Amino acid sequence: MRPKPPTTHLRPIGAFLTLVGLLALAGCTERPAGLDGVAFAEAPVLFITIDTVRADHLSLYGYARPTSPFLVELAADAVVFERAMAQSSWTLPSMLSLFTSLEPPALGVHDGVRPAPRRGGGKPAREEVEIEVFADEHLMLAEALREAGYTTDGVSTNGHLIARQGFTQGFERFDESGCMWGGADCALGRALEILEGAPTTSHFLWVHLFDPHFDEVGAPPTYRPPASHANLFDDDPALDARGATVRDYDRKLRGLDDRLRTFFAELAAVRDLDSFLVVVAADHGEEFHEKGRWGHSKAVTNTLVHVPLLFRLPGGAHGGRRIESPVRLLDVAPTILELLGIDRPPAFQGTSLSPALRGGRARVPTVYGETRRAGRSLHYWVDVERDLKLVVDRNDGRRRLYRFTDDPGEERDLAATEPELVDELADRAAALIEALDLEPGAVPEALDEAARERLRALGYL
Ligand SMILES: [Zn+2]
Repeated sequence: MRPKPPTTHLRPIGAFLTLVGLLALAGCTERPAGLDGVAFAEAPVLFITIDTVRADHLSLYGYARPTSPFLVELAADAVVFERAMAQSSWTLPSMLSLFTSLEPPALGVHDGVRPAPRRGGGKPAREEVEIEVFADEHLMLAEALREAGYTTDGVSTNGHLIARQGFTQGFERFDESGCMWGGADCALGRALEILEGAPTTSHFLWVHLFDPHFDEVGAPPTYRPPASHANLFDDDPALDARGATVRDYDRKLRGLDDRLRTFFAELAAVRDLDSFLVVVAADHGEEFHEKGRWGHSKAVTNTLVHVPLLFRLPGGAHGGRRIESPVRLLDVAPTILELLGIDRPPAFQGTSLSPALRGGRARVPTVYGETRRAGRSLHYWVDVERDLKLVVDRNDGRRRLYRFTDDPGEERDLAATEPELVDELADRAAALIEALDLEPGAVPEALDEAARERLRALGYL
């Protein structure tokens, strides 16, 4: 038995360790090899994605309200990416990009679900939808893991992340009905059941949590925090209507964070947490009318594409570090595989972040993302070296240019004063789109009444 790395001993022991690390601190586990050129071979992987989390609304990223005290504690033993960028501003393309490590134009999925056009024109029929089904020939993270001998489990709470859309490739078991559109109580309860009975090595569990997402579409949308958190952050009597809406969203974030704390404590009672590679990410953020819009999917502002991302390596190795350089969600899958010593599929377009986790720099020179949903079409392109973000609205042709890190709120458009930079970045983004763009694969399919109504309530139809 070897002791945990000294960095762990020197850090203050947070509540996370107090709750979940007693077994590990007692020295029951050997620190897995790794980060010295040797992968965390066969480590169990717990991959949690959370719907609709703005990085800048988490106290993990400096937000004033304590929305994520558990994630803050988890980060003491994790490596946190300060600027993780989603490749789209809504669930399906973002999560497909994450699981395939493909740039969004290579996915062939843009709308996901939409009303079916009537033959001969006319208004779409409310009872018919077309579904873009993700092509089977792409290799997804769960498939690569399964080919390497992993047992793969998935728990979905989002109706876009299901077998019908082609999302479940590589999962041996996929729970997409029990907790659909439900809260973390259901999904994390299911996750705990799975982990209690799962192999202690070569096991992959992905859980998607839906909680922060709005409950009803609208302007503003309705966010319903759990009853236990309905009076949280109640110290500002002067809140206007917008502020009250945002507070409800923040309450939902805190409700989820508290539920995650309970889950990890329960998990530590039955499994050795230090054996796990834990990855936490979100699919996209949310707009709170900063630019006149609510919700997500309609733009590619930082409020929508700047998401949380952290890796808790086995043994808590390199914990407490924060990586400032921008990285992409499409880099997550190659990173997980490299950490486990599994060859990356040749089709993967992302870059492994393993060097950054080891203490080096993230080597991601450019970041691309887009949304093409319900008639809206925009993309963004970040030149990391020059700290520039270009946003192209393909509906009206307008191009905007921002200092990426200096102006996170994207309030100072430099396009008029830097036309040559705009042209150059626009050409580079256009070349990527041209090289990768696929026709959407639309398959007409009728949805049952309940699914249709839920998608309509959330604004997808
Ligand atoms: Zn989402």
